[in-house]
Amino acid sequence: MDAPEKPRIVIDDTTLRDGEQTAGVVFSLEEKKRIARLLDETGVGELECGIPAMGKEEQRSIRCLVDMGLRARLITWNRALVSDIQASLECGVAAVDISLSVSDIHIENKLRKSRAWVKEQLRRALGFAKRHDLYVCVGGEDAGRADPAFLLELLRIAEAEGADRFRFCDTLGLLDPFTIYERIHYLAQRTGLDLEVHTHNDLGMATANALAGVRAGARFVNTTVNGLGERAGNAALEEVVMALKYACATELEIDTSRFVELSRLVGTASGRPVPEWKAVVGERVFAHESGLHADGVLKNPKNYEGFDPKEVGLQRHLVLGKHSGRHAVQERLQQLGVDPATVAVDRLLERVRHFSRQQKRSVTDRELLELCRAA
Ligand SMILES: [Zn+2]
Repeated sequence: MDAPEKPRIVIDDTTLRDGEQTAGVVFSLEEKKRIARLLDETGVGELECGIPAMGKEEQRSIRCLVDMGLRARLITWNRALVSDIQASLECGVAAVDISLSVSDIHIENKLRKSRAWVKEQLRRALGFAKRHDLYVCVGGEDAGRADPAFLLELLRIAEAEGADRFRFCDTLGLLDPFTIYERIHYLAQRTGLDLEVHTHNDLGMATANALAGVRAGARFVNTTVNGLGERAGNAALEEVVMALKYACATELEIDTSRFVELSRLVGTASGRPVPEWKAVVGERVFAHESGLHADGVLKNPKNYEGFDPKEVGLQRHLVLGKHSGRHAVQERLQQLGVDPATVAVDRLLERVRHFSRQQKRSVTDRELLELCRAA
């Protein structure tokens, strides 16, 4: 008998919802459409595309995204209120996330209600959504700080009332991967509901936590391009996909070669340019200067590159500077049409290092040629 097929992991990208929720970030409708189109073309399965309860303009933009006829399923974010879900229905989406605060901290200090009230809200909102044939993800806001037994109780209600999945939110980004794994594993063992993991980067663990959630049995992962999102952001799409591939041997059907294009588009639209050292998509993450590394890469890129830069749409840069060695200088000269045999390479290397120390930066091609003439 064949081994049972592993369930497919689905990326639910929330750049257009949690990403836009970042303080000070606003996307125009044109930008939203371009981001949605590009995410769709890369093969992302689901796009969380807005909050209809915010008002008419948001609803119009969601309707425009619906009208694009994308392959990806569009899902909206809603409070557990019939009026919110009604607004989503009017936008024409077929899927909703119904979000509820599930930690006692939120229930007592934010909602000023009780656990019983939360259960009742869930039943009412979910019942309404299912009567309208919506696909429903129940979102557990602040699930990371919730009592696991209460969470399980909510999941059982959700399952009994016909919910399609449950989103475990580490809303404040306070959990570590080991705890996320335990929490999601606990739920996965006890319900048949599909699970989703939603992580934040406040302690720099959003991507690691997303992977831990997947390992524990979550089939859906929330991401944003560049990790944009509330406070320190969410798990970055490009990091999650590449980490699943290279750290967890799980390859998704996603065209990663467009990640840099996507990253720059969102970087510009959000007014948050991507740092050169940003994991996976930063312009300089495949730049090599130090003598040993550059020499190793020239011999075989696999020596110092975990994957081919082209895989995400980047290029390799061999940089000449204070840490450079002979091999890199010779290689660069050759690329610039100068026969290294005609150059006193050791002397040139001295000058390159000296120049770089003085200028506190690497040496450009033009400067290299000038140094070469002077040497
Ligand atoms: Zn969030």
